[in-house]
Amino acid sequence: MRCMLSDRALATLQCVAASSLRRQSGLDVEYMDRYTKSRGLFEEAKKYFPGGVNSPVRAFKSVHGTPLFIQHGSGSKITCADGHSYLDFCCSWGPLILGHNHPRVRAHIQETVAHGTSFGAPTQSGNALGKLILQHHAYIEQLRFVSSGTEAVMSAIRLARGYTGRNKIIKFEGCYHGHVDSLLVKAGSGLATFGESSSAGVPTSFIRETIVLPLEDVDLIRSVLQRQAGEIAAIIIEPIPANNGLLIQSASFLLQLRELCNEYNVLLIFDEVISGFRIGFEGAAGLYDVRPDIITFGKIIGGGLPVGSFAASREIMSNVSPEGPVYQAGTLSANPVAMAAGLATLEQLLKDGFYEDLEAKTLHLSKQINSHAAKKSHPVRVQHIGSIFWIAFSRQAISRADQIDPKSMEYFKELHSYLLNQGVYLGPSGYEVGFVSAAHTMEDIEQAATVINQGIDAIFN
Ligand SMILES: *Cc1c(COP(=O)(O)O)cnc(C)c1O
Repeated sequence: MRCMLSDRALATLQCVAASSLRRQSGLDVEYMDRYTKSRGLFEEAKKYFPGGVNSPVRAFKSVHGTPLFIQHGSGSKITCADGHSYLDFCCSWGPLILGHNHPRVRAHIQETVAHGTSFGAPTQSGNALGKLILQHHAYIEQLRFVSSGTEAVMSAIRLARGYTGRNKIIKFEGCYHGHVDSLLVKAGSGLATFGESSSAGVPTSFIRETIVLPLEDVDLIRSVLQRQAGEIAAIIIEPIPANNGLLIQSASFLLQLRELCNEYNVLLIFDEVISGFRIGFEGAAGLYDVRPDIITFGKIIGGGLPVGSFAASREIMSNVSPEGPVYQAGTLSANPVAMAAGLATLEQLLKDGFYEDLEAKTLHLSKQINSHAAKKSHPVRVQHIGSIFWIAFSRQAISRADQIDPKSMEYFKELHSYLLNQGVYLGPSGYEVGFVSAAHTMEDIEQAATVINQGIDAIFN
């Protein structure tokens, strides 16, 4: 492995560069000591779960070390099984916009759970969350609750197919939509229209129904629509792609997509599982003022409990069972405890200045890092929008998946273990974005920026 550190930096850091070798040879005693409990728990977990985890990125495969087992979360901080605490910028991958263990959310969950956990029947809590969302979201008229983002997307795709009577879907390279079979498709080499599965177990016949295109290429999208519009049910996009770096799109691109969909009579699906309630209450639809035909939600909508949703006009939603022919159901859908967490969370977001405050903190974090990197001429750029940020090891702005240099991920690996040892927790992959929550204070932000800048210096000096 490439060593990117000066001798001085190496001597002063607990665990960076060349450390995987040191660790393998048992030399990195400090590292071993610091995470003994998590290491033991991970060894045990490997007996129970493939790769020791219940969701792959948690396994720390893209960074050094073993996953931290988290014991406790409060506000902006989490504590691992070994008793170290961290400023958390993963925030459970996005749902915790209020931070960990928010008192109102916890109280509402406790009040609700005192009456039982699940009935498989309608409850008032479902009405309350549905009403709150629809009252404050001008781009949708009806919704249905499900239990995850994946389930929301899967159902939205079925709805689009049922509504249009067509099968094919256009998706974009660099957008993630959960582990839905027909969306685990990436662009193949050569012609954009021949996709390849990105997972074993996805039938080729499913892949044939998915067309993968690069972001931003309006001409290519138009030419595919000209040729095949009669077979295409929908175009699905993360309007703010945030699962493969943060690939911020222009408002005009999203507007053009809307116009093309109108022109060719194809539905437009915004997958707002991350951006929904994150970039303002109305998400990316509100930010760009583009009205998609269907919006999917997840993450924040459940306030840290499992909730997803798909939403559309009343006319489109009337196709969902039992009102219409598109089947969709869920034993735990609109679970009252999860609805309570979602309601308590979303209520906070409607307070004056909530999003402005989040954005100001995120802007400050980004500025501190960007100005430091510029001063030192480090190839580092923080891209951010609202309270989402992404540390790219690049000098150029990045807005398409193919602009990310896979080799730059080696730098992230070094940064990640440096930050862990210094008490800052980022999601364990350089393709993942970070989130600022309402619980992060300006002091937290200053501290994180200082530590991140030190980590970057250690890599590049
Ligand atoms: C997280 C995510 C999903 C999948 O949601 P799960 O709850 O993990 O199934 C889908 N789409 C987007 C844009 C996401 O960020």
